Amino acid sequence: MGDFQPDLTEPSTAPVAASKQVSDGLADGQSGVLYRQLRQKPLNIVGARGSYLVTDTGLEILDATCGAAVSCLGHNDARVHEAIQEQLQKVSYCYSLYFTNSAMENLCKFLVDSTGGKMSRAFIVASGTEAVEASLKMAVQYFMELPTPQPQRANFIARKQSYHGNTLGSLSVGHHIGRRALYEKVLAKNVSHVSQCYPYRDMKPDETVESYVGRLAQELEDEFQRVGPDTVCAFVAETMAGATLGCMPALPGYLKAMKEVCQRHGALLILDEVMSGMGRTGTLHAWEQEDVVPDLQTIAKGLGGGYAPIAGLLINQHVVDTLTKGTGVFSHSQTYQGHPVSCAAAYRVQRIIQEDSLLPNVREMGAYLGQLLQEKLGDHPHVGDIRGRGLFWAIEFVKNKETKEPYPPSQGVSWTVHTTGLKPEHAVSLIPGSGCVDGINGDHVCVAPAYNTTRAEIELIVDRVSRVVYDALAQ
Ligand SMILES: *Cc1c(COP(=O)(O)O)cnc(C)c1O
Repeated sequence: MGDFQPDLTEPSTAPVAASKQVSDGLADGQSGVLYRQLRQKPLNIVGARGSYLVTDTGLEILDATCGAAVSCLGHNDARVHEAIQEQLQKVSYCYSLYFTNSAMENLCKFLVDSTGGKMSRAFIVASGTEAVEASLKMAVQYFMELPTPQPQRANFIARKQSYHGNTLGSLSVGHHIGRRALYEKVLAKNVSHVSQCYPYRDMKPDETVESYVGRLAQELEDEFQRVGPDTVCAFVAETMAGATLGCMPALPGYLKAMKEVCQRHGALLILDEVMSGMGRTGTLHAWEQEDVVPDLQTIAKGLGGGYAPIAGLLINQHVVDTLTKGTGVFSHSQTYQGHPVSCAAAYRVQRIIQEDSLLPNVREMGAYLGQLLQEKLGDHPHVGDIRGRGLFWAIEFVKNKETKEPYPPSQGVSWTVHTTGLKPEHAVSLIPGSGCVDGINGDHVCVAPAYNTTRAEIELIVDRVSRVVYDALAQ
């Protein structure tokens, strides 16, 4: 699951009483681990198969979210194990500064081909955060290496309630206020944020989709004008908003309108598909459903399906051409770049997605998941919105369904739903999220099953999720 767990970083929102019961799994005694919540031991996972995680007390937890939308084939697929084993016997590591390796070659060829060659090269790193960092640096370099360099392009525009990673650079483009707060003083000052596409709260009653999208495009245009249109390096957005806003697909025409603003002013479009990409929303690349092609694209979570840490930056032909004709160097080195074992694992995961025709299943089961969630929870007095696409759905909780008033953050509602799910009587794992309203307020949980899920499993997931929601919100 890497270092990413959406909103568990605010212990103040995690009621201790509710989280205590998740600590029963480990024997007492001093641990050497710095847990994400320093005073609580989380459940200890000792095994996994398919969609289930097994704790050391034998509890089988239905992993309804693939961790953080990662384990897209489920756990323990022997075919991936075999590919990893084979690669280990060939070469486990070589340094990408002066070597390439077949596993990386295979994976990158697959990725480039999967875009129809629109993204003509791939750059492999070890986490989504690193891919985002690489994209920001490449955007800066691109403008320095144009035939007429544009060194003044030093600003980024991103979106509110977005998540792009947790290093200082990626945190600067993201906009989860709770997560930024502690570091605000050291975050980059050359990033500004425009509104998300969030119809549930922000589309006015008298607006059509077209006029709402037009308003958001105008807001981006105004932001370009405010900072100086020729100083903007790139606009950064999740193709489908994930962790912070909670599984919000772009409205029709939205990303196209945003790209038009970028093109008008010569800025790049960076689409962050770390969570929404690699099949999660029903197509391998989420932008395929949006009538846009990005200049730079980040991918990660579903790429390696959790079998190895891996992420990638996909680069549009015209950017590759500019760098090739420019210095011919992308001076961004990381030791574990293009790791052979991670590449072999990801390549096998991706071939399984194709061989087993899992993308049609994501679309079909995703529609079924959305329909069942709506049927079982749509009428709940504290469920404000149910939204998603493919196998990527969120349930947003509200204190008042009429006014859409959120719960106070101090109540830690999404965390309570999450910890309730981990009780033995429910045994289902959900991703808790907060900040969807404004980066601080707002609670949701995400559901993101494996791509090979079945109708029966979707029914089981929705059954457990709805019991958990009724149980947790009655507390
Ligand atoms: C998870 C995520 C990241 C960060 O990826 P890590 O692998 O946790 O570093 C970046 N962008 C988006 C959209 C994400 O969901």
